[in-house]
Amino acid sequence: MNFKEKYNKIKSEAPHEVLKSQNAGELDKARSKYIGRKGVVTSLFKELGGIPHQERPLWGKKLNSLKKEIENLIEKQKNSIRKEKSKKEFFDPTLPVEHYRYPGRNPAARTMDEITSLFISMGFGVAYGPEIETEYNNFTALNFPKDHPARDMQDTFYVDENWLLRTHTSPVQIRVMKESKPPVKLVAPGKCYRRDTLDASHLPVFHQVEGLMIDRKISFSHLKGVLECFTRKYFGGKVKTRFRPSFFPFTEPSAEVDISCTICMGKGCSSCSGKGWLEILGAGMVDPNVLENCGIDKNKWQGFAFGMGVERIAMLKYGIDDIRYFIQNDKRFLEQF
Ligand SMILES: [Zn+2]
Repeated sequence: MNFKEKYNKIKSEAPHEVLKSQNAGELDKARSKYIGRKGVVTSLFKELGGIPHQERPLWGKKLNSLKKEIENLIEKQKNSIRKEKSKKEFFDPTLPVEHYRYPGRNPAARTMDEITSLFISMGFGVAYGPEIETEYNNFTALNFPKDHPARDMQDTFYVDENWLLRTHTSPVQIRVMKESKPPVKLVAPGKCYRRDTLDASHLPVFHQVEGLMIDRKISFSHLKGVLECFTRKYFGGKVKTRFRPSFFPFTEPSAEVDISCTICMGKGCSSCSGKGWLEILGAGMVDPNVLENCGIDKNKWQGFAFGMGVERIAMLKYGIDDIRYFIQNDKRFLEQF
């Protein structure tokens, strides 16, 4: 192909190639193919030396205007690609919104309501109290000895010397016992605070449901009956309940209550660390000292109390393996409930 033929080929092909470029990448390719450092127009300039002397200025001019023409086309195409793109991205506020599924309630709030309604169905009332409590209602009245570690600044958020963020909902029971006469039969659901470091099984803010029953001739059998009824209703009829001796300052005797593992049915699996049992709550007979602190005659009245962590119950029920999910507000998590 001689110089003239090459020139005509470029002149007829280049505009098509530039104008069919759909994006910046294709346009860049066309640019370097024609007017880049190794482009065909650029190399044709180098061949000017091979054509007859008198025709050289003419072809030089023609080549320059061809180069200019290609440059203009590229610029033009670049603008139209940009315009097309912004047309596609145009935000039309009048369009209807995408279908949005409202995530369910937080499973902790939901579980707290479920537990509370189960006890209501057994004749319990519901009591609430403030989250900022006196040191007396949170510890002293509940028979916590002066040197108990829970009283430590490291374990409790103190507002000042006498006020703190309650570490359990037990002070609600104290308030009710001080303000009303027995019999008492109530549950106290609500938020609690402890200086726990956030990890897979601890939250510094969590929820509890605690229960209290004070009457004449209340025995440990009543406690067992009520809690067994609760575990069967909440976790299903096949679940077994076990009471293990334990210690709490405010109950005597005290017990930790386990249910048979809901995953392996008591055979032993990774969720129950091979034991076949899962701990769900603490309970016991109200210590006579606590009754006295609230002005209740310990010779006439007895009672039992129990307390459970709501997040823990929800984790067991729904198979949630990290407590932090409850506070992350992740739509993907919340939508499952
Ligand atoms: Zn198991």
